[in-house]
Amino acid sequence: MLYHSTRSKAVSCGSKEAILKGLCTDGGLYVSDDIMSASLDMSKLMDKSYEEIAFEVFKVLLDDYTDEELKSCIAKAYAGKFETAELTPVTKLGKYWMTELYHGPTSAFKDMALCMLPQLMSKALKDEKVMILTATSGDTGKAALSGFQDAENIGITVFYPYGKVSDIQYLQMATQEGGNVNVAAVRGNFDDCQTGVKKIFAADSEKILRERKISLSSANSINVGRLVPQVIYYIESYKKLVQDKAISYGDKLDFVVPTGNFGDILAGYYAKALGLPVGKLIVASNENNVLTDFLNTGVYDKNRDFVKTISPSMDILVSSNLERMLYYASGCDAEYVAGLMKDLSEKGRFEVAKEILDTLQDIFDCGYATNDESMQVIRDAWNDDHRLIDPHTAVGYKVAKDIASGRPTVILSTASPFKFAKDVYESIFGELSDKNADGFAYMGALSEKTGEKAPTPLAMLKTKEIRHTAVVDIDKMEQFVIDSLNCIL
Ligand SMILES: *Cc1c(COP(=O)(O)O)cnc(C)c1O
Repeated sequence: MLYHSTRSKAVSCGSKEAILKGLCTDGGLYVSDDIMSASLDMSKLMDKSYEEIAFEVFKVLLDDYTDEELKSCIAKAYAGKFETAELTPVTKLGKYWMTELYHGPTSAFKDMALCMLPQLMSKALKDEKVMILTATSGDTGKAALSGFQDAENIGITVFYPYGKVSDIQYLQMATQEGGNVNVAAVRGNFDDCQTGVKKIFAADSEKILRERKISLSSANSINVGRLVPQVIYYIESYKKLVQDKAISYGDKLDFVVPTGNFGDILAGYYAKALGLPVGKLIVASNENNVLTDFLNTGVYDKNRDFVKTISPSMDILVSSNLERMLYYASGCDAEYVAGLMKDLSEKGRFEVAKEILDTLQDIFDCGYATNDESMQVIRDAWNDDHRLIDPHTAVGYKVAKDIASGRPTVILSTASPFKFAKDVYESIFGELSDKNADGFAYMGALSEKTGEKAPTPLAMLKTKEIRHTAVVDIDKMEQFVIDSLNCIL
């Protein structure tokens, strides 16, 4: 299986190189035309474990890894890191099912991929070492730190904006254990962190690093090594419903996916391309509904106000992984995609041809939920069904209620309600009388009122030792990285 850029087919490589590089040099994303002709006998996976399904998926999509390498990655990725016996339990939510993707170390769905990516990277390395650089507005940083903790030959440095993350997010990062992890608060905002990281990638320090056989890489959601592990739980969800006799093998199943960067739902398209009987993939957005408009009209236009919502991980106006879907929907036409992306960068908008829109509408349905609607379904889910859901899952639930086809439907539940305890609590019970109540107070109150237990990694945060106290100026970020290199030498 050869990977090349969505914007040019001139150079191709195996999956190991694609995973190490992350992004193509022309700014495109790694894709493989072979996915269109690849297939997996899904019926044979219906009695396999999560890990066995992972192995079969990886064998097809990451075929330059040996069987031993894949088995070792899979054995290390999840073991001991999940609170539940099953990695991704499938439960009921109203008349739908939901797959709980939040039982990992940081209580949100990014763990599903970030537990695996470091393993895949370690095995792809030859004699060099890697420093991962991540700028975070809060959540991704913790999931990356936790995933890369003590990975072989890899270090990680995370920058977050000083004073601009929640108390829980701060403690999640500041208490992170591991000999290879580095965390710094930056005197600036999230954009400053991100620009600072980009500058380090572009700077001469790359050369210095190369002499020391260290390369820089990132862990963001466009990496093939994050996409592929997400294919597994689509198959796993289908398998569970077959095993529970809720569906028969071959029945079509719809998936509603709370979407931001289009990574999670794209993995659903990969599962479908490999042969999983998927009906519609339903893109659920919050008020930043640039994808809803795009799928309805064929015009993608990011020139609009950015809305801060209670589902912050979906507050995105440039949905990076959509580029891959445009590539496949255009019949693997790299030149066409390059043109669209040029329009996007120059004008902030692009429009796809009618045939391409038709193809996309065949595969995807879409809808969105406002903040008020999200809060309403959180309240209804608790009052009607005694189910606690987080604001991202709520967006999915609302969209399912609006447009689900009547076919069996699974909503992907992407975060623990306790991770967003304040908004969940207020949706159901209103504000706490203490106006200064912090995230932990809301977590406690939510637990008390509902009788549900907060995930241990969140509940324990307050008692953990603070390990990372660095605060740096924007122009000292590069020096902080250089000073951190010793942790992998
Ligand atoms: C990242 C995230 C999403 C969106 O996933 P994408 O792959 O960016 O579409 C949804 N919910 C939560 C809780 C997330 O952290």
